Amino acid sequence: MPSIFSVAPQNLEQMRQQVLERFASLIENQTRTQLFASNIGALVHEINAEIADGHEKTIQLLDKINISPTERDEIRQRLQNDMALSGRLEKTLELLLGERKRQWEIGDAHLRRVMLDFNTMAGNLAGTLIEKDLLERQSHVLENIIISHEKVSQWRVFVQQILSNFHAIFPFNFFFIAFAEEHGLGLYLYFLGDYPEEIKVSVRSKLVSEMLVKLELPSDTLIDIEEFDIPAKVSGEAGDNIDLITVRVPELDNLNLAGVLGVAYGSMQKLNAQEASVIRSILAVMVMVVGSSKALSKTLAELEYYSAHDPLTGLHNRRHFNEMLEYEIDRSERHKHEFSILMLDLDDFKDINDTYGHPCGDATLCGVAEILRKNTRKGDLCTRIGGDEFAIILTETPQLGAHDVAEKLRNELRAHTFEAPDGKTFHITTSIGLIAYPHDAQNMSDLMSGVDIGLYRAKSIGKDSVCSVEQVEDKIQSNRLARDHAETLRHALRSDAIVPYFQPIIECATGKVFAHETLARLVDADGRAVSAGAFIETIEKYGLGRELDRVMIQKSLRVLKEHFAAGAAPSKLFINLSAQEIQGRGVLGYAEQMCAELGIPPQSMVFELLERDAIGDMTRMRKFLTEMRRSGFSFALDDFGSGYNSFHYLRELRFEYVKLDGEFVRNILVSKIDYALVKNLSHLCQDLGMLMVAEFVESEEIMDALRAMGVDYAQGFHLGVPRQKLG
Ligand code: C2E
Ligand code: CA
Ligand code: CA
Repeated sequence: MPSIFSVAPQNLEQMRQQVLERFASLIENQTRTQLFASNIGALVHEINAEIADGHEKTIQLLDKINISPTERDEIRQRLQNDMALSGRLEKTLELLLGERKRQWEIGDAHLRRVMLDFNTMAGNLAGTLIEKDLLERQSHVLENIIISHEKVSQWRVFVQQILSNFHAIFPFNFFFIAFAEEHGLGLYLYFLGDYPEEIKVSVRSKLVSEMLVKLELPSDTLIDIEEFDIPAKVSGEAGDNIDLITVRVPELDNLNLAGVLGVAYGSMQKLNAQEASVIRSILAVMVMVVGSSKALSKTLAELEYYSAHDPLTGLHNRRHFNEMLEYEIDRSERHKHEFSILMLDLDDFKDINDTYGHPCGDATLCGVAEILRKNTRKGDLCTRIGGDEFAIILTETPQLGAHDVAEKLRNELRAHTFEAPDGKTFHITTSIGLIAYPHDAQNMSDLMSGVDIGLYRAKSIGKDSVCSVEQVEDKIQSNRLARDHAETLRHALRSDAIVPYFQPIIECATGKVFAHETLARLVDADGRAVSAGAFIETIEKYGLGRELDRVMIQKSLRVLKEHFAAGAAPSKLFINLSAQEIQGRGVLGYAEQMCAELGIPPQSMVFELLERDAIGDMTRMRKFLTEMRRSGFSFALDDFGSGYNSFHYLRELRFEYVKLDGEFVRNILVSKIDYALVKNLSHLCQDLGMLMVAEFVESEEIMDALRAMGVDYAQGFHLGVPRQKLG
């Protein structure tokens, strides 16, 4: 594999070499000439010395030869002149060579300096060009990394694409990503090119041990390796020595993503600092890609989980229930199986929240989920479909079997002891609706409305019970109509189409108006007022009672305020409370707030409760009444005599008023039994210190009879029909 250096500008390097060679040969030539010159100098000096020596000898010989003194002197003179001349010549040459040498030395130093400068300059130039090239390649890799939503969610593929590109520009052998995941070390290993198995093995083990150290994981951590082979044009021999360049994946908010990623090089390659830093910067971008992809895919996985699960209990949610129900209908149809649905609703769950706080309520729901899980089979589906509502699909279970399961669940739930934050313990009960496919209903919506009816029925027969659709008188058909009706009512409540009408309550002794009962009326499209009797059942059944009560409290108090403002004498309002509101208890705060807002004394309000709603849970009921009384409100027991007729509760709860059920009252003149009953009840109330209101007074004769019995108050069409105005 070529070093990444080889991609550096080769021309520049060649040129540098050539110039340096020229410089070297110049310096060499110069040195050679210099040597030659000094040799010539030495030779001239030698020759000169020999000539001088010869001349000296010749001069000495002159005395011995026979020549005239004049001639001798002349020859000596000549020889001496020659010697002086050759000495001068040698001196001149010496001077010349000395000067040349000096020049050469200067030239040489200069030449060497130029050569060095050139070399440095060429080096710098090469460096700059390499840097430019590195940067260009880096940006080439980076500009191909375009993050998009799809890419991020399929990050493994995306990483592969980036790697091919990255590798083509900056070759490396392996790429890896390591994450400390919940279940252990997750290692994603990408081999760029073909590698023999033994190299893969050694890369794997080297990376695992390094990553465990880097991510501070214990050595016995579970390891999950995912490997990818990415074809590469150049694939290298990778030896045993592997160099890593790693970058940390920073922890993202709350995502708990501890990770490292990097590239690995076989021992053949060495990177310089510049290259390593460029690669690190590309890795930093990869971190961003992988980190955000990983974070996103985690979020996506969570989203996927929560789209089908209830985050609190971990059970499946309503959406999943619906999907599975559809699937189950299909499956049972094909295999001719029966299956059943249970719909569970915790009785008075709101109380737990109100009394012990929401965390305790949440813990209770989790506890319930656990009990459901434990007491159903593996193939059954337990879901939480609303606040305290659970639905279970019992696969391949006909009605009879489902009944057993429902009873078992009901008993298990009732037997379970829950713990409140204050250390006290409490228990819960559950109402369960049951329906079987195809026995009771054959499609999804009929199954759902049928099981709803069962549940509603289970609630209304006193909670803590199981009720199948068969036990419900209502037919699914009528229920469907009721549902439509409920929608109309819901809309009416929110669009001011439900208004209070007021029916006077007369003091028997004086014939004066003592109070008014507020009765809900639905103003229909034609402006007609529809009586509460036509819709109150639907309101209760579909959980709209609370909303109705609040609308009624608010609207009737406004009318009362106007009434007072117009100078009318103080009078009371009797307001009906729904069963839902009585269980919920929130009405106290609401009524208090409304009274304060409108400046109406709570003493002018009497809340009417139905007997069956009031006796559900005596202890809590008493507490509720005490609290409300403390605020100044009082209570009337409505329709007394119509149902339970429990004098015990009557005494226990000490209502201020008792309203005798109209069905007795309207018959007192024709039925001796009814006459006796009303008379006795009225005496009983007097004994208990409660005021009695007789309803359905439809004639003056009845009024006379009631007066004679000592009944305190009376109400009925004869005394006044419900009207939109007070007084
Ligand atoms: P209720 O509380 O027993 O109210 C008396 C019902 O008897 C009223 O019917 C009233 O119009 C009717 N009535 C009054 N005098 C006579 C009479 O002399 N003869 C006959 N035959 N009937 C008479 P309405 O308004 O249709 O209400 C029916 C029931 O609906 C009420 O019975 C009450 O339980 C409930 N309701 C009415 N308004 C409200 C409300 O605002 N909130 C709640 N939660 N329930 C309400
Ligand atoms: Ca009433
Ligand atoms: Ca009544």
